[in-house]
Amino acid sequence: MAWKNGDIPESDLVIFRRGWNSIDGDWFWGLTPGTYARHLALLQRAFDRTGRWLEPSDGWSCYRPYAAQVIARRIWGIGAATPRTSSHGGFWEGIETLAVDYGNWAWVYEKHGGRAAFYEDCRAVGLTPGMIQPDRGYPDEPWHVIDKNPRSGAPAATSNNATRVVTEEEQIMGVKEDILNGVRDIVASEVKKALDARGDYGKYTLLPLADGDHGIWLTNSETGKRTHIANPYEVSLIQRYFNNNGSDQMLTAEYDIVRAYLSRVG
Ligand SMILES: [Zn+2]
Repeated sequence: MAWKNGDIPESDLVIFRRGWNSIDGDWFWGLTPGTYARHLALLQRAFDRTGRWLEPSDGWSCYRPYAAQVIARRIWGIGAATPRTSSHGGFWEGIETLAVDYGNWAWVYEKHGGRAAFYEDCRAVGLTPGMIQPDRGYPDEPWHVIDKNPRSGAPAATSNNATRVVTEEEQIMGVKEDILNGVRDIVASEVKKALDARGDYGKYTLLPLADGDHGIWLTNSETGKRTHIANPYEVSLIQRYFNNNGSDQMLTAEYDIVRAYLSRVG
């Protein structure tokens, strides 16, 4: 039976990370076993090409249950799908789908072919990029990758000798799993470093990787508004402003930059 959008039982999913942030609350990354296998294959392929690891974005960037779609709509407004229609929800455009937002794709591929290379790697593992973009009537969301066959198994072996190669493939996948588990620890520490830019300051949050590319956003949980921060220098100014206990003599010009951002998020 087809899933109802937003109602996939957790027992159908591999839950591969859980976390908390002030926007999503408690979230998890969940995919079907088949989609998860393709996701891992994509990570490996991207790493082999670029030396960098793709990561889903912080928060509900994989399967997105109904309650999370409601929250996303409330926070992002028209920037998020109407609840029950998200392509992250399990049923979209008339078919079962899952989706992953790889928020750091531009960083991973920046010196290795950019969007074209990223899309090529997605397709090579059976995933479909480029479904959310202007020529299909959507905003441009290159980070948003769809699996149109979430119930199908792991990526097929690419050989004529299917029986023999599947066995090798399984062995390789087993070894890869061990390696990936080790690598994931390293990635987690790298991601933690990146997330050190993140901060919760009352109603304000500095949120890296929140919305594709590799931007850092200032959000205001009371107004629901957010704004992209232009560069790392200005991120550091905002951090200094929030952390200032009176000992940091910021310049008027520096204050002005911070105030301009604060006024933009209400
Ligand atoms: Zn998405």
